[in-house]
Amino acid sequence: LLEEARARIEAARDLNAVVSLNVGADETAAQVAGRVAAGETLPLAGVPLVLKDNLNARGTPTTCGSRILANYVSPYDATVVERLTAAGAVIVGKANMDEFAMGSSTETSACGPTLNPWDRSRVPGGSSGGSAAAVAAGLVPVSLGSDTGGSVRQPAALTGVYGLKPTYGRVSRYGLVAYASSLDQIGPFARSAADLALVMNVIAGHDPRDATSLDAPPAFRTGTPDELRGLRVGVIRESLEGNTAGVEAALDGMLAALRGAGAEVREVSLPHLRHAIATYYLIAMPEASSNLARYDGMVYGERVPAGDVTGSMTATRERGFGDEVKRRILIGTYALSSGYYDAYYSRAMRVRRLIADDFARAFGDFDLLVSPTSPFPAFRLGEKTQDSLSMYAADVDTVAVNLAGLPALSVPAGFETVDGVRLPVGVQFIAPALADERLTALAGALE
Ligand code: GLN
Repeated sequence: LLEEARARIEAARDLNAVVSLNVGADETAAQVAGRVAAGETLPLAGVPLVLKDNLNARGTPTTCGSRILANYVSPYDATVVERLTAAGAVIVGKANMDEFAMGSSTETSACGPTLNPWDRSRVPGGSSGGSAAAVAAGLVPVSLGSDTGGSVRQPAALTGVYGLKPTYGRVSRYGLVAYASSLDQIGPFARSAADLALVMNVIAGHDPRDATSLDAPPAFRTGTPDELRGLRVGVIRESLEGNTAGVEAALDGMLAALRGAGAEVREVSLPHLRHAIATYYLIAMPEASSNLARYDGMVYGERVPAGDVTGSMTATRERGFGDEVKRRILIGTYALSSGYYDAYYSRAMRVRRLIADDFARAFGDFDLLVSPTSPFPAFRLGEKTQDSLSMYAADVDTVAVNLAGLPALSVPAGFETVDGVRLPVGVQFIAPALADERLTALAGALE
């Protein structure tokens, strides 16, 4: 399996989905073979997978798609890596990503962009675009990404695979390089609901090394169509504007399938969602500006010597970070500065609460909520790189879920033909906090 995955990665090098191979993979695979031979039953025995390059796996580079970490090699395993390895999985390599997970297209990586396997002139979405493309192209059956504002769900939608963002705290963030700590969650990509459930049962669960980790043992499974009868599904009214015809058709098709199976489908309004993008960026950027202070060339970051300490730190950060990362550090620092804290960060925190309350109210009447995952299918490489606001707007359907800490799953829901090419479209289901299991059950029922 490991050799097959490597051969497929090699044959698909033009996608630029995988940025480094794990030199320790053969040793791990041999150990797994030994454990199986000794009679151990391992849920992921020999399953090859790739990790987004912001997840630490001992002995592998963890670049976060940034020049500043070009020569960083992890001295330890993230909790998810420990658990995957214990379950018999073999980490084949690391997947491309937007620099420090900041983006919606996987174009800001220092390793260059990842291409969408469905149309190589288009983006795979981001920021976990490498992990999504690797699964979509069949290089590996499953991969891990991270989702701060949509970075698992949106690339899953744009590449036609499943992508799950768990409840905040369900999967340990120990060993995930921090972007915006109150929003970050690790999540899997897969081509079936069963594979998602299998991986979640391995990686979820309490971890004393992550102070925000929740004690909720995983019980993921796939459901059957009869479970859809009587299910109360709320269609988020605020997500119905501004979608392409293909996205509208895919959502309508999904709603018809749910109704056909006996679900109760009705519209529901979450009035504060229109502030979600502004609120998200005013929380994510300040948190990022604080988290990224550690890359100063002293402890972390490829040092660029320049006279005194301050000069070296400045030169290190000037050379090591890309434009989008610098933009966010500047805006984030500004929003936290004493003169503007009340106007921006503190106000964003209050709107975050209103958004979470909207969801809580909706879940009083519904078991699940549904919306498009993205208003449009994969866009062209370069189409949004010169216009940050249009790139940020790509997250309009996903960021509110992170602000509220909820679990959500993007399910493949059809195709939109653009310029003669079939491009995948995804639909997002959102569950109440800690009801993540409902999402794989639903996905199984819909298969
Ligand atoms: N596109 C969003 C951002 O740039 C979300 C990224 C993410 O989820 N990591 O912040």
